[in-house]
Amino acid sequence: MSDFSRRTFLAGTATAAAVASGTTSYAGASDGSPSGARRTRTSIYRQNIGEIELLSITDGATSFPRRQDFVTNRSPEDVAQALQQAFFPTDPITLTFTPVVLKSSGKLIVIDTGLGEAAFKQSNGIGGQFHSNLAVAGYDAGSVDRVLITHFHADHIGGLVTADGKPAFPKSEIWVPAAEYAFWMNSGNMAPDASEAMVANFERARRIFGILGDSVKKFAPEMEVAPGVTSIATHGHTPGHTSFIVTSGSDKVIIQGDVTTHPALFIRHPDWHGFTDVDPVMAEQSRRMLYDRIVAERILVHGFHFPFPSLGHLTREDDGYRLMPIMWNPAP
Ligand SMILES: [Zn+2]
Repeated sequence: MSDFSRRTFLAGTATAAAVASGTTSYAGASDGSPSGARRTRTSIYRQNIGEIELLSITDGATSFPRRQDFVTNRSPEDVAQALQQAFFPTDPITLTFTPVVLKSSGKLIVIDTGLGEAAFKQSNGIGGQFHSNLAVAGYDAGSVDRVLITHFHADHIGGLVTADGKPAFPKSEIWVPAAEYAFWMNSGNMAPDASEAMVANFERARRIFGILGDSVKKFAPEMEVAPGVTSIATHGHTPGHTSFIVTSGSDKVIIQGDVTTHPALFIRHPDWHGFTDVDPVMAEQSRRMLYDRIVAERILVHGFHFPFPSLGHLTREDDGYRLMPIMWNPAP
C-alpha cells in the first residue's frame, strides 16, 4: 500500500468509526462546517499517473443564482437549454472546486488552493474546504513542498493565506505564472470602467501576494515546474492562465485549470464566452488548442470545475467536444 493510500485508508477508518459510533459530525464540523447529516463525506480521490500519485481533493462549491450573463455571447435561454440537455440545474448554476495534490519524486505538490479559510467561515463550510480535506487525506499544510497556481481568481489563490492573513503553506515554495503576476500586481492594467469583481480581483491579488512577499517564484510556459510537471500557456481566461501536463513513463494527465469552467457550457460549446474570462477570444483559442491535443493524444484531463473527481477524457462532438468522466474506482 502506498504512503498516500495508507493515509487515506486510515483517515477513512477514523471517519467510519465516527459513523459507526453514531456521531453525525465530520472532521472539521466543530469549526462551523455543515453537520455530517448534510455533508457528503467522499472528498478525496486517488489516481496513479505512472509513478506519480494524484489526489483530487474537493474545496466545495459556489452557486450563482439568477446569473443572466454566465455566458456573455449567448442568451440566457441558450444557456438554460445547454444545461438541461446535460441534466444540470439551470438556476442557480453551481461550480464545484477541486484542487490537485501530487506526490512526485518524494515531493508533495499542491496545484491551486481553493477559496481559503476565510471563505470557509463565511460560507458555513460550503466552500473553502480544501485545507480541512487535505488534513483528512493525512497531510498537514506544513508538509507541502511546492504550490503551483494556474491563475489568480479567488477560488485558486484564496487558500494561499489563512483567515488571519498568514501564509497557509508556511514551508512551501509558491510558484505562479509570471504573466499572471505581472498583470494582477500592476493596477495600471485595470481598465477605467473595470467591474466591481475585477477591482476586487486586483485588490485580492495584491493583498495575498503582499503577505507572501518576494519569495514567490514566477515561471514561464514550457518550464518543468516540479518533478514530472510542465507548464502550458493557456492564456485568455486570465492573461497568464496556465495549465500543466504531468508525465510519468507513458502516463499523462493535463491539469487544465479554468480553460473551461462549466463543462456542459464551454466544452460542448468552445466558442461560448464566460463572464469571468478576461480575454474571451483568446480563451476560446487556448481551449481549442488544448482540447485538440487532448483528443488527438487521448490524454486524461483534470478540470478544477469538472464534476468530482474532476477527471475524464474528451471526445470531439459536432463543433465542440464532450467530457467523458472517469468511472469512480476505489482501488486504482
Ligand atoms: Zn476557477
